[in-house]
Amino acid sequence: MAKNNEFVKFDKVDKSYDGKVLVVKDLNLDIAEGEFITMLGPSGSGKTTCLMMLAGFETPTNGEIYLDGNPISNIPPHKRGIGMVFQNYALFPHMTVYENLAFPLKVRKFSKDEIDKKVEKALSMVSLSDFGSRMPAQLSGGQQQRVAVARALVFDPAVVLMDEPLGALDKNLRESMQYEIKHIHESIGVTVVYVTHDQSEALTMSNRIAVFNDGKVQQLSSPDKLYEEPVNSFVAEFIGENNTFQGEVTDISKDRCKIKLDSGKEILANPIRVKSKGEKSIVSLRPERAIIDPEEKMDNKFQGKIEEVIYHGDHTRVRLNLLGNKEFILKVPNSSARMDIKLGNEIKIGWNSFDARALDPK
Ligand code: ADP
Ligand code: MG
Repeated sequence: MAKNNEFVKFDKVDKSYDGKVLVVKDLNLDIAEGEFITMLGPSGSGKTTCLMMLAGFETPTNGEIYLDGNPISNIPPHKRGIGMVFQNYALFPHMTVYENLAFPLKVRKFSKDEIDKKVEKALSMVSLSDFGSRMPAQLSGGQQQRVAVARALVFDPAVVLMDEPLGALDKNLRESMQYEIKHIHESIGVTVVYVTHDQSEALTMSNRIAVFNDGKVQQLSSPDKLYEEPVNSFVAEFIGENNTFQGEVTDISKDRCKIKLDSGKEILANPIRVKSKGEKSIVSLRPERAIIDPEEKMDNKFQGKIEEVIYHGDHTRVRLNLLGNKEFILKVPNSSARMDIKLGNEIKIGWNSFDARALDPK
């Protein structure tokens, strides 16, 4: 059977809590069956509200949500077939791990035999087969979150919602859990709607990412497209690190434009979101696309002064004053140890105009 590309569908969904301010604005989002989609955005941008509406704990003010083609407004949460893992959606503390997982199955009236089988399968999926008789308090934070993941999956839901499920874990554990959840998704193919404000988490885990700001989806694309081709300066700033220059378009052709910076100097850039001369632009350049001692043929070459040098283990971060931008960041791999990376030194920097994305200032 063909994959359903509209397995979950937000259709013109608005949400207001107070009847005045919309915290979700005209959301149109199709989620494919089996997809891992992440809602990424700053705090307060409306991500949790979207999950709550999909789960059935909040109602859209306007619009409708569809699950497998059917409107779900009138279906109560427990009948939607949706599993959930939230940062603060704790395990039942007075129940063993086994009982925690059995609970959603008992509610759904599975037989004792089926419950045993499903609990065993779900526990082995998160590598906790021997932990069924433990109490949650006897588990580490990471183990508790794995039980929470298993509990969300144990009844074979059509969709699993995860809202910042790794937020309380320390960095190393968070990263290993990201891979673990990603692998579980790959092996069982359930549709996952994931929420995070952590861009590297979103890039690591997702098939597609919807970037939220101020209740609106700014961009919906694959992680690599989001990183390489941000559609506006909000997305460019939010995803990954970014050097920016402000100026005005003074010349433009199909694949190249000239931007006169406020400092008076001109740079060449890739006209992504500018169309004509005279427009204001913010030019965005990833730190790793700026090169020291550029070849002669590179179309942007400038001199900058080193303002700060910070050792980062695998690379050194160098902050430059370049073309009037005192926050210009450069990442130098530590394999290429250089003697001239010192505070106060002047170095030559270059980049290809293709990598410098001229965006609109909004
Ligand atoms: P996010 O998950 O992206 O941080 P939320 O969906 O939680 O964002 O919140 C979006 C906006 O809605 C915020 O301004 C928040 O204060 C407001 N909000 C969230 N939940 C409620 C609620 N239950 N009642 C009133 N306002 C709320
Ligand atoms: Mg939230």
